[in-house]
Amino acid sequence: MIIQDAEFGEVIVRKNPLSRAVRFSVSPSGRLQMSVPQHTSDFLVKRFLNGNRALIREKIPLSDPKTQRARDAKKKLLMKKAKDYLPYRLEYYAKLYGYTYERCRLSHAATRWGSCSSTGTISLNIGLMQVPEVLRDYVILHELAHLNHMDHSAAFWDEVGSHDPKYKDHRRKLKAFSPGV
Ligand SMILES: [Zn+2]
Repeated sequence: MIIQDAEFGEVIVRKNPLSRAVRFSVSPSGRLQMSVPQHTSDFLVKRFLNGNRALIREKIPLSDPKTQRARDAKKKLLMKKAKDYLPYRLEYYAKLYGYTYERCRLSHAATRWGSCSSTGTISLNIGLMQVPEVLRDYVILHELAHLNHMDHSAAFWDEVGSHDPKYKDHRRKLKAFSPGV
């Protein structure tokens, strides 16, 4: 869960069944991260945050709010671009190659470009809007192929290759980019 805070910007809240106390840390992207026990209410989360502002300011090395706000604005813009593009591109390729998926979800995970669930939900990272089109298409074709193969077997790669013959090259080039915004 992500909450918006006037002072700290986006705060990542993780409900953790193993944690018994509230912990503050910095996320890899420089945001404030809170780990709270599983059943902590939103109300309590905000109260913990408000009650610990002085401590957070002093002890947690967050990236400065200006950088944070710039990043939030960039993310919003990417999300808008992605909404107008990715679901349609996915639909285009699905129709072209005869795939049926359940729905398209836009994500902003820091580590993965896309995923495909066993129930047919395809998630695409909004960071794809920042990579060249051929690489974006490769990710879409990769996730579509997972509808038939839920693994990375030889049969899976054969299917990816039948739609994107240069997939090896695209896969390698994609490594130069990071999905995190
Ligand atoms: Zn995969």
